[in-house]
Amino acid sequence: MGCNRTIVWFRRDLRIEDNPALAAAAREGSVLPVYIWCPTEEGQFYPGRVSRWWLKHSLAHLSQSLKSLGAELVLIKTHSTLAALLECINAIQATKVVFNHLYDPVSLVRDHNIKGTLVEIGLSVQSYNGDLLYEPWEIYDEMGHAFTTFEPFWNRCLQKQVAAASLIPPWQLIPAKGAVKKCSIEELELEDELEKSSNALLGRAWSPGWSNADKALTEFIEHHLLHYLKNRLKVGGDSTSLLSPYLHFGELSARKVFQLARMKQILWANEGNITGEQSVTLFLRALGLREYSRYLCFNFPFTHERPLLGNLRFFPWNSDLANFKAWRQGRTGYPLVDAGMRELWATGWIHNRIRVIVSSFAVKFLLLPWRWGMKYFWDTLLDADLECDILGWQYISGSLPDGHELERMDNPEIQGVKFDPEGEYVRHWLPELARMPTEWIHHPWDAPLTVLRAAGVELGLNYPKPIIEVDLARQRLTEAIFKMWETEAGSSDETNEVVVDNTNVVQNSAIPKVVLKKTPCASISSNDQKVPTLQNPKNVVSLDKKRSKGMEEGVQNQSSLQNHKNDAEVSSNDQGMCSTSESSSSKKQKSATCASTCTFSVPQQCSSSSELKRPWQEQIDMEQSSSKDGTIGS
Ligand SMILES: Cc1cc2nc3c(=O)[nH]c(=O)nc-3n(C[C@H](O)[C@H](O)[C@H](O)COP(=O)(O)OP(=O)(O)OC[C@H]3O[C@@H](n4cnc5c(N)ncnc54)[C@H](O)[C@@H]3O)c2cc1C
Repeated sequence: MGCNRTIVWFRRDLRIEDNPALAAAAREGSVLPVYIWCPTEEGQFYPGRVSRWWLKHSLAHLSQSLKSLGAELVLIKTHSTLAALLECINAIQATKVVFNHLYDPVSLVRDHNIKGTLVEIGLSVQSYNGDLLYEPWEIYDEMGHAFTTFEPFWNRCLQKQVAAASLIPPWQLIPAKGAVKKCSIEELELEDELEKSSNALLGRAWSPGWSNADKALTEFIEHHLLHYLKNRLKVGGDSTSLLSPYLHFGELSARKVFQLARMKQILWANEGNITGEQSVTLFLRALGLREYSRYLCFNFPFTHERPLLGNLRFFPWNSDLANFKAWRQGRTGYPLVDAGMRELWATGWIHNRIRVIVSSFAVKFLLLPWRWGMKYFWDTLLDADLECDILGWQYISGSLPDGHELERMDNPEIQGVKFDPEGEYVRHWLPELARMPTEWIHHPWDAPLTVLRAAGVELGLNYPKPIIEVDLARQRLTEAIFKMWETEAGSSDETNEVVVDNTNVVQNSAIPKVVLKKTPCASISSNDQKVPTLQNPKNVVSLDKKRSKGMEEGVQNQSSLQNHKNDAEVSSNDQGMCSTSESSSSKKQKSATCASTCTFSVPQQCSSSSELKRPWQEQIDMEQSSSKDGTIGS
């Protein structure tokens, strides 16, 4: 046992097991476990209601576990994380601060600054990989460039060894001596008084906390993993692992999940159980997407500075508040979309397939600014995770070389038949359609009047007519894309950077707030429904380097659209990528030098536009021959 007095700064690693920062501190002397809640520093990414509910319960759980090991978790609410840490350092005369890495923009900048200051005052600071199988700076192609498509990224990952999870937690913690000003879990104010009644319902379905995460993982590995191949596309029920909130808050170590699943795979391979083997391959691939989300954000950090869809900067969004409200409330008239949005509101969680369907509908049918949709997800998902959310919205909006094309429009009616063939999911979430025969459940507007009457459905009265016809939506999307290209072609003066992203105009408009519950006393969290602010709008970057291969259901003038798009893929956009990469690169360089030990090594290949341009373009070419359907939306 060493003689360090170490502060273990907990963030999104709320577990005891396989927690490298906690384990290192416990080995080296006495510890002060600390959780610092600093709402002002969260900025535009202040967590939503259900996410804060989860955090509160997870912290309470962790606090109990640490107490049973001998050290109390100190909870602090503050306006400055650095100031709070310095107070803790003074209080216990700490010699060291340890924590596990985070990769989201708010944390990256904050951690970099804090590390710099602590090192300057002579403290030892050490950070660890507690969140990922592979650090984002460990995976590059042969040229040393960052991957921009998922498959090659994941193939490269699988060639590397995953570090073994350390499954034996510290058996005892020596508490550091000293009086620290702390608060109770209630004083953190993670939950407004008025949110409590709605939140109570969440507790029926979910049990936050690291040991519950462990149980959920065991249950999944033992009983459901085998059928993941077949079940994962079912939109209702627990067809997937439901581990995302646990993984987001670090209540589960990704290494442990990987390790247990991999062990099953080896077992099933030996038994010749092909279904089992393939199920594990797909499940590990899902974990790979989580890795990839962090990888993209780290290596192409402009997705943080101006999150998502730089390529759409000229897109003529239709910032229609009434449409946005109808989408949020599940009143679009498209049963599958509405069922998904109502499930999201009621439970804080929806299946990946439904996420793809409802987000695509918002962007492609309603032409709503993607940031409104993303922020709504951020506010309402239990597993709201910036990197995964960014990846998801980029995937559906044509911003990833291997995602959906911008022109692609999926018809919710057809998707309903495909993913909810019996209509059970829709009936569950839309009681007003409960008596509709399966034949019409996904397109009630086509049903004969007699059928509607027998089912008690009056379109326009107790269930809305479609908010927009499919053909009209398709036509509007096509027009919008044309307009986007025209505007883009007309603004050839790159140096002038007259970037017209009308999301800037709409971002401050008064977006209707989420009403928790329509009771006389209900009020609204001031953080609901704020749309993320676009930082540095002048430097908006186009990411759209993809050559589209046409829409699923055929848009008119496709070939001319295609040609135009290819022409419009100006290489000058790489300039923007470069500038952001450079800034981030230097950020990382500073970060690497400021800490006494490892952390963010600098991916050197991101330092110039020419270097960036080539792999990206190569990927576009590669993408021409790659499969389109299934990376994230599978
Ligand atoms: C528009 C959109 C927004 C999304 N926002 C989020 C979000 O805020 N937080 C979040 O955790 N996931 C998000 N996802 C990804 C995905 O929908 C969820 O991770 C998944 O549905 C969680 O269910 P599960 O734990 O049962 O997943 P499983 O299928 O059991 O997968 C296991 C784990 O792999 C990871 N994973 C699976 N699919 C994906 C994916 N497509 N992208 C990234 N990681 C994945 C998750 O950590 C998940 O828990 C989003 C997807 C879309 C299309």
